[in-house]
This record gives sequence, C-alpha cells and structure tokens, in this order.
Amino acid sequence: MKVQKAGSTPSGYAEPEHFTGQVRRDRLIMAEAPGCVQTGLVTFEPGARTAWHTHPAGQTLIITAGFGWVQAEGAPRREVASGDAVWIPAGEKHWHGATDTTAMTHLAVTEYIDGVAGNWLELVTDQEYLRG
Ligand code: MN
Repeated sequence: MKVQKAGSTPSGYAEPEHFTGQVRRDRLIMAEAPGCVQTGLVTFEPGARTAWHTHPAGQTLIITAGFGWVQAEGAPRREVASGDAVWIPAGEKHWHGATDTTAMTHLAVTEYIDGVAGNWLELVTDQEYLRG
C-alpha cells in the first residue's frame, strides 16, 4: 500500500495548448498495473475550460467545489455544481470547465488504455463556450 501524503506533489498549471484560461491541476494517484486509473483534482478559474477532447475508456467527474459547465458535442451545455457526478462515455467529444463568472473544481477519474487517458482536439472558442 502506498499513501501519497498531502503536500508531497506540487500543484501545476495545465498546458495552454489543451486548456483555455487558468487551470490548476493537482495530480493524485496514477494506478500501478494491473490497475489502469488516474485521478486528479482540477480547478478552473472563471472562464477557464478544457479543449474539446475524448477519453478512450470514458471519464468520471465529481464536482467538489463551485459551479461550472460541461458539454458533449451536439448537446446543450449543462450546469454542474458541488456534489454532482458526471459520466462521459468512451469516445464522446466533450469539454468541461468553469462558467464565465464562477470557478469550479472537480475530481477527475480516468481509466487509460495502452497508457492513453485522453485524446486532445481543438480549443473551445469563446463563441462555443458562451453560447453553450
Ligand atoms: Mn474529459
């Protein structure tokens, strides 16, 4: 058993080619084989969001603070708040983030296949983000 102690892993800022705005990422556990899950706490400042992307094995998001938006391609934007849990099926193109006025933090639980947990696509434009 391994206990990853609080404070043992520095916070990082998400890479701008895959995120818009200020996104802080605190990596938690990356499972050891045969486990295949990674977990991380992600905080989006107002206006911040992921790029469009997919997950080869799907993804669970558990909103732990604030109020944000999630959207699957071809569907209306949805509001999510602390305590909500979201399932994103494998291969579904989507994005997640803060609203334009409120921050949002979620725990991301993502299984990987052959080491790949996500496939990044284009950034979410301001027009797409605000139109929902
Ligand atoms: Mn995702």
